[in-house]
Amino acid sequence: AAGAPLIAVKGLEGWYGESHVLHGIDLEVRAGEVVTLLGRNGAGKTTTLKAIIGILGKRRGSIVYDGAETIGMASRNIARLGLGYVPEERGIFASLSVYENLMLPPKVKPGGMTVAEIHTLFPNLKERAASQGTKLSGGEQQMLAIGRILRTGAKTILLDEPTEGLAPVIVQQIGRTIQALKAKGYTIVLVEQNFRFAQTLADRHVVIEQGRVVDTIPNDALDANIDKLHAYLGV
Ligand code: ATP
Repeated sequence: AAGAPLIAVKGLEGWYGESHVLHGIDLEVRAGEVVTLLGRNGAGKTTTLKAIIGILGKRRGSIVYDGAETIGMASRNIARLGLGYVPEERGIFASLSVYENLMLPPKVKPGGMTVAEIHTLFPNLKERAASQGTKLSGGEQQMLAIGRILRTGAKTILLDEPTEGLAPVIVQQIGRTIQALKAKGYTIVLVEQNFRFAQTLADRHVVIEQGRVVDTIPNDALDANIDKLHAYLGV
């Protein structure tokens, strides 16, 4: 594909306090791609997402988003460029209704989805608009967390294990949602333990080991590389 990548990470290092966790991540994502980050527990997948969105305490190296170097930027300014992050824990407020949760983030960029558009994508959120956040199923909470980010105008969505703990039928629903977002032109980076799920929607899989990218596997080569992948993931 021609043109510059939308996200270009080079030599990214990251720390939690004194603990050096990322040791030179190199990663490119093109506009409209769905890319998964695969790897064992503790490999540095979540930390890579946190570094890209600017919420990791200490980062070094280069993260260019849409032509802008973001390594020295505050997270709220990175969000304004059109990046959104859905953490594994989803961040739904129990005391607020579904609608209030949806309206929570200030719009950070013009052109975010309207509530009506979000309700079209996630009819459950419309039906349950007045329910409390905690009354939702895990799948509905995940949809609410994604919907909330779509409202901010983010066009690139970083998802951390969106299918974690969800029933298979709900996992499929989340998969269809991600495909619908891709069809609308969104760019998605996804941390995923379940590579069979990732295979149903990703363009490429980036394998992270001990804070470094050790391999990139195109989706159509995943089956041919299954033994290698099992070794990476230790399954
Ligand atoms: P997982 O599926 O376990 O989340 P991961 O690949 O996403 O795996 P990270 O969460 O990025 O892994 O963790 C990378 C390393 O950083 C691990 O060694 C982990 O113990 C450490 N780590 C993660 N969060 C913190 C934190 N808040 N403080 C200190 N160390 C952390």
